[in-house]
Amino acid sequence: MKNITTNFNDKTVEYTQLLSDFKALLKVNSLKFTIQREVILETLYNSDEHLTPESLHHLIQNNFPDLKTGIATVYRTLSLLEESNMVTSLSFGAQGKKYELGAKEHHDHMICTNCGDITEFVDEEIENRQHAIASDLGFKMSDHSMQIYGLCKNCQDNEK
Ligand SMILES: [Zn+2]
Ligand SMILES: [Zn+2]
Repeated sequence: MKNITTNFNDKTVEYTQLLSDFKALLKVNSLKFTIQREVILETLYNSDEHLTPESLHHLIQNNFPDLKTGIATVYRTLSLLEESNMVTSLSFGAQGKKYELGAKEHHDHMICTNCGDITEFVDEEIENRQHAIASDLGFKMSDHSMQIYGLCKNCQDNEK
């Protein structure tokens, strides 16, 4: 899988920029730019949620019923985007993965391993500490991801 260089860290990217990166990515992988593939990118871009391939497919089916976008196309496009770091995935236990666009502003995640609920957070102290630790160890940090796993409030209440 060939890669194109895109730096999404800590910045929000304009859709036109994202789209032209996507077209370039498809090209180097000898894949055709199709309206179905564009709609996948666009739907991810416009969503504030972390989406499973199935929920992404569902959204597309609802919004663009005439396009007949297959779930296989969604899977394939998502893995292409993930391999080139344009989207990131979060695993939430045995149920699967949720995807979001890498172009979003940096944040960390709290993930419920029971229902898959994902909460985003940013803590300045944690961010700063990570930079300090890396620099103390002479490590040139380019990015980080932090996932906290456990049970959300709802799932804890349901356990009682
Ligand atoms: Zn939960
Ligand atoms: Zn997120």
